[in-house]
Amino acid sequence: MTTHVDTPTLSLIRNLGISAHIDAGKTTLTERILFHAGKIRKIGEIRSEAGATMDSMDLERERGITIQSASTQVRWQGHAVNLIDTPGHVDFTVEVERALSVLDGAILVLCGVAGVQPQTLTVDRQMRRHELPRLCFINKLDREGADALAVAAELRARLDAGAVLINLPIVDDDGRRRRLVGVADVIRGVAQTFTGPVGSIVTEGPPPESMLEPLRQARARLAEVLADHDEAILAAVVGDHPIDDATLERALRAATIARAVTPILCGSAHDNIGVQPLLDAVVRYLPAPDVRGRTLHDLDTGEAVPVRAGAEGPTCALAFKIDDGAYGQLTLLRILQGRLARGERLTNGRTGERVRIGRLVRIHADQMEEIEAAEAGDIVGLFGAPCEQSDVFSDDPRRLLARPLVVPEAVMAYAIRPRDPSALARFSKALGRFAREDPSLKVSRDPESGETILAGVGELHLEVVLERMRREFDLDLEVGPPEIAYRETITRRAEFDHLHKKQDGGQGQYARVRGDLAPADGPDAPRFVDRVVSGAIPREMIPACEQGLGDALARGILIGAPVVGVTMTLRDGAAHAKDSSPLAFRTATAAAIRRALQGAGPAILEPSMRVSVDAPERFGGPVISGLLRRRGRIVGQTIHGDDLRVEALVPLAEMFGYVGDLRSVTQGQGSFTMETEGYEPVPEAIQRALITRYGRRAPTVRE
Ligand code: GDP
Repeated sequence: MTTHVDTPTLSLIRNLGISAHIDAGKTTLTERILFHAGKIRKIGEIRSEAGATMDSMDLERERGITIQSASTQVRWQGHAVNLIDTPGHVDFTVEVERALSVLDGAILVLCGVAGVQPQTLTVDRQMRRHELPRLCFINKLDREGADALAVAAELRARLDAGAVLINLPIVDDDGRRRRLVGVADVIRGVAQTFTGPVGSIVTEGPPPESMLEPLRQARARLAEVLADHDEAILAAVVGDHPIDDATLERALRAATIARAVTPILCGSAHDNIGVQPLLDAVVRYLPAPDVRGRTLHDLDTGEAVPVRAGAEGPTCALAFKIDDGAYGQLTLLRILQGRLARGERLTNGRTGERVRIGRLVRIHADQMEEIEAAEAGDIVGLFGAPCEQSDVFSDDPRRLLARPLVVPEAVMAYAIRPRDPSALARFSKALGRFAREDPSLKVSRDPESGETILAGVGELHLEVVLERMRREFDLDLEVGPPEIAYRETITRRAEFDHLHKKQDGGQGQYARVRGDLAPADGPDAPRFVDRVVSGAIPREMIPACEQGLGDALARGILIGAPVVGVTMTLRDGAAHAKDSSPLAFRTATAAAIRRALQGAGPAILEPSMRVSVDAPERFGGPVISGLLRRRGRIVGQTIHGDDLRVEALVPLAEMFGYVGDLRSVTQGQGSFTMETEGYEPVPEAIQRALITRYGRRAPTVRE
């Protein structure tokens, strides 16, 4: 580690994420950026040319902190660019959300051959949700069949009407061989070529003859797009006056930050073409951290507390990623407001704990640098401060919380255990660590079987966790078949009136509860409502009643799945001066609710997935009938050129093995993504089958 004080000026910071459909070249591009801007010394091939694929986790380990770290700072043209890792797969939405919440801008990478792919659309949605200005990078333009203009047109048609090319690929095609030789800058009208190791020498010169007309057209198109957002350019376009480069750049920056326009750049990360112009565009067009504020919440009043880099106000820092590594817990913080300095004491808003800011570090491509302080907008690492993801450290007298993340439901589960009983301690440690890192992962213990249940967002999510347990903790695991995380609910209101009374010498137990259980009125309805008047039940017993409700709802009466979507209203009851205790009320309520469930039309709910299938149009028939056979409900169909996209809601239980089916009915040309949509009641026949199958023993997946 090296030590010096170094705090970049706010306007010179860029917090950047890179997202892509898998295989579009995100890793390769990131590595090239780290090379040029972070000065890592060596570029290793990501996958060997022979096509042998290495596992990304192994690779990460081999390449150490550069790729694995969730944030690394590189320097480009006097700017500090914090590259924040945004995991790409939909199954990791929590991680993606968390990472996206600290970004100010993003690069969306597309493959120059495949164009817009299913995950491109997913990350596009995420970027929109977080209101992120962005650049697009059309990669792999060295490949046979790559077509930047076609991909740009597809981008405009399918996800971003304001997407506009700001450089063009220069391709040398002699009819036998196609070669990408460089890129041509649309605004400045110059050609750029990349020579030397990893293309690190950029040479600018006049573009080849053949590029002059395409460049003229692209510049006119850029001006036209910007004219919608800039008066000066509108006047110039209408009056047919020339527009100088600086005016175009200024207008493009404003429109990009306003998310009205998305600049598209071209290149090939693998062949080291177009990476430096992309970095130039990052500092030129993407915003500094003070452009957009964030909102925190006061724990006590629930009030919104706006914070902004550059604003006057208390220091606030958000913990967005926690890494347990060789050096202990490293927490990555985005400083939202104010200044964070070593030695300071801040409060963790969630726990109320005072925390001393000990070691602060900045993570570079291949080293850590110890720092004394950092300013709002920046991203730094903090060692040794106990906290969880999304905690806020602040010196505000109020206790501040971040907006809770959208945590997708854990809809699938495996029962797991180590084959070797002596590995139990390691097993628990591994589970604890993954559960802490990833709030969408739920670990629970089935009280009856004693099995450990690992629940997550989907098959792939769980597979990755299991694989990491095997490798990083050297565990040999026994894994049960995949199980669906069912829920139970009720369909009608039922009253209860229950007396719990026991008298067997010593102190007795006496508690009576009366009220009703009804289907909840919307997702935010309270689970427990206290309407007891005139002290029929003493105040201090009320929390025990709520606990009793929790006990009863933990396992439903049909298959033992957690019960959701109910509201209990406690209206009346009775207590005994000597024999009433919290335990008696807890027991009474649990028994009352169990009985009420029987009269309330209990029903089983199953996770329903939003499935999006892309395939050539001619396979539309079999794709749709396949989804219908899986109890799917088609909710949308769109056609772009020869491509058909079908959207459907399909029960998760029916999605096992879909990968293979889709492959076979589309001759390998179909792909799909899915996300949890919510819970839906199962049809009656299936409800009966589930009850027979599970009895009261569905795998316990706790909320
Ligand atoms: P990721 O899954 O998006 O991170 O993609 P990777 O960076 O791992 O790249 C996937 C594959 O595409 C690898 O075999 C890369 O070598 C290859 N690749 C990446 N960029 C390019 C490119 O610009 N041109 C070509 N031809 N291949 C590329």
